[in-house]
Amino acid sequence: MSKVIKVLKLQDGIGRKGARRSRALVAGGAGFLGSHLCERLLADGYEVLALDNFHTGKRYNLNAILGNPAFRCIEHDIVDALPEDIPVDEIYNLACPASPPHYQADPIHTFKTSVLGSLNLLELARRHSAKIFQASTSEVYGDPLVHPQPESYLGNVNTHGPRSCYDEGKRSAETLFFDYSRTFGIDIRVARIFNTYGRRMQPDDGRVVSNFIVQALRGEDLTVYGSGMQTRSFCYVDDLIEGFIRLMRAPTPPPHPVNLGNPAEFTVMDLARLVVDYTNSRSRIVHRPLPIDDPRQRRPDISFARQYLDWEPTIDLSQGLARTVEYFDALLYGHRPVREAAVS
Ligand code: NAD
Ligand code: UDP
Repeated sequence: MSKVIKVLKLQDGIGRKGARRSRALVAGGAGFLGSHLCERLLADGYEVLALDNFHTGKRYNLNAILGNPAFRCIEHDIVDALPEDIPVDEIYNLACPASPPHYQADPIHTFKTSVLGSLNLLELARRHSAKIFQASTSEVYGDPLVHPQPESYLGNVNTHGPRSCYDEGKRSAETLFFDYSRTFGIDIRVARIFNTYGRRMQPDDGRVVSNFIVQALRGEDLTVYGSGMQTRSFCYVDDLIEGFIRLMRAPTPPPHPVNLGNPAEFTVMDLARLVVDYTNSRSRIVHRPLPIDDPRQRRPDISFARQYLDWEPTIDLSQGLARTVEYFDALLYGHRPVREAAVS
């Protein structure tokens, strides 16, 4: 059952000067990336409707924009038929739990979210001739045998392990997006997002950057899974959102999904040491079992994004960590005022 968190008169998209503002729907708009995207679209003059089932998203992520007359949010699960016909110009599908413990908690629902949810949004795009964006993932490369990963690499994914609900769900969604484009001619933009972190991750999100920072700030042991020699490439959220916008606004749709991520590669152990240093923490680094099918290495080849979107990350890991540590410090201890810290 859908619930409107905030209703407002959208004036049918008519802005003050009479020109119609573009209308964007952001599925997963109350999540980490989704809330940043909603803010960016509002700042760019859009009317924004967020749909979210609040599985991992939080109402307080929207604190800064709930008062904006061009914003509304409906509690809705995209697996179910959309609550109303929504006239829309652009659709962004970010709805899906992204952290392994969250997407593995109800794997069948995770898979349905990627497949049935994408179908519902693609049908909406078809009805309104809207441009539609899909948040795909570097997980489509699985445990990659090619390094770094270009978009042309077809991946090495286990079809039946505990990560498969997410990896195969996202792969299936890519298939649906490209089949809708070929069949109905709709304008699709598919981003393959590599590990992204930053302000507004949840303290209990479970992904590595937020886990390490929260553990370090609390003086708890940092839990490195396995040897810590596996690698990831960490992108700060602001860089990624800029990549989304450039991808969506590129004059023509790219012929394939586009890697978006920061190509600087770190071992998990490097990250743990960096976080301990930044937080000046006395936490110890301890080892825990490596999860099944945990990819051993990951780094995006972003040559295509550089050339097609004139995009590359500008915020390095030390700058991004500093901002993220500041955020969690405020959230957990109120040391510095941040708007998002009002957890309700
Ligand atoms: P997140 O968990 O913070 O956000 C996901 C949002 O989707 C949450 O608000 C959640 O409540 C909502 N949601 C989940 N299932 C839903 C459903 N069935 N119906 C409606 N809403 C639903 O995670 P995030 O990091 O912000 O990820 C956003 C998107 O980007 C996801 O699709 C994820 O797969 C993709 N992605 C993220 C990363 C990353 O590193 N952050 C990497 C690759 C892909
Ligand atoms: N990881 C870790 N400790 C944690 C959480 C994660 O060592 O507390 C590891 C995890 O095993 C993986 C890497 O960090 O090798 C990135 O994990 P995350 O869940 O952030 O993203 P993903 O595995 O989906 O890339």
